[in-house]
Amino acid sequence: MSKDSVLVINCGSSSLKFAVINPKTEEESISGIAERLVGNEAFITWKLNGEKQTLNLGAAGHEGAIEALVGVLRDNNLMEHIEAIGHRVVHGGEKFTESTLINDDVIKGIEDCSHLAPLHNPAHLQGIRACLKYFPGLPQSVVFDTAFHQTMPAESYLYAVPYSLYKEHGLRRYGMHGTSYRYVSKTAADMLGLDYDNSAILVAHLGNGASACAVKNGKSVDTTMGLTPLEGLVMGTRSGDIDPNVFSFLNKQLGYSLDEITDILNKKSGLLGLSEMDNDCRVIEDAAAQGNERAQLTLDVFCNVLAKKLAGFAAEMGRIDALVFTGGIGENSSVIRKNVLERLSIFGFEVDEKANEETFRGKSGVITKSGSTVAIVVATNEELMIARDTEALIAG
Ligand code: AMP
Repeated sequence: MSKDSVLVINCGSSSLKFAVINPKTEEESISGIAERLVGNEAFITWKLNGEKQTLNLGAAGHEGAIEALVGVLRDNNLMEHIEAIGHRVVHGGEKFTESTLINDDVIKGIEDCSHLAPLHNPAHLQGIRACLKYFPGLPQSVVFDTAFHQTMPAESYLYAVPYSLYKEHGLRRYGMHGTSYRYVSKTAADMLGLDYDNSAILVAHLGNGASACAVKNGKSVDTTMGLTPLEGLVMGTRSGDIDPNVFSFLNKQLGYSLDEITDILNKKSGLLGLSEMDNDCRVIEDAAAQGNERAQLTLDVFCNVLAKKLAGFAAEMGRIDALVFTGGIGENSSVIRKNVLERLSIFGFEVDEKANEETFRGKSGVITKSGSTVAIVVATNEELMIARDTEALIAG
């Protein structure tokens, strides 16, 4: 049996996603999720050879989930294939500019960034510590969502607030979805025959969380998310950009507390808040297609904000070699893509209606006419990127 695969781990505050991936063949032998890791009704579900199975875990935290995962891997003879573990970590602050192998210093560094991602980094650390216990001797790496954006120039990442807040407290824009941007921008460049090191690529990562990025010469030069994922685009339940004085308005006029306002802007806004229907873009698209005006308005606000950001990034980069759509909405919604591209016609985009309609469910391909500025759909694969990084790190 050859050790040829990487176990990719993505710990959330109450869940743990996993996959075993061969970075060379891109084959995924098993994938799954342990859920409800807070409380006593945890369970783990996995997909193997096209079949889904579930095991109840009772009261299991992240450590219990890893212990159960070891059992699942052993029972299915997958343990002996695993050469290393790669962990997704949301926030690496200014300390981590690339993926790295785990050691005590790296663990301390992730702890030091925990105040920037208080829900995520502590959960990642629980997963890392459990893996160190249950997979002794296996090399482990961490791949940061923020690392790709560490190439942003100061003019992109600084807020115009007292400079000491940045210098002394790290108050700046960090950006997220970096692993996805790295994967889809390089994949798009390869598909289009562009020289990645001399290219200007816009990427719209549109999922339940959404952001956009300007990738110039293979490096992030600007992105829409900021100190936290709330900034930037309209998302499933997040407002995106908003006048910061909304906080004092809602507090003074309506008596909401800081926590309540944070909750409204993060969990009750975006597509859900504006449509008063759902955070799922499909539901809103269906309603709009049936003539619901609010649903159409919601889609238009979503696309208008996105188009304005992309236009700004185009100005920053000085040209557009390609615009890439990815994420659940970007990969599947021909309606959103068409709406956005029409708003950007000043940049020479012309939608190929047929190609746009036919590109969904994991399909990648160009969706603009020949002679148009290129827009392309690329199915993202953050897990594969984590597996590739991990393999490269252990190969030294
Ligand atoms: P993600 O967070 O990348 O998994 O994306 C999830 C989101 O993708 C869902 O909330 C949906 O809004 C959206 N989505 C998935 N399929 C479609 C589709 N066919 N049309 C429009 N939106 C979709």
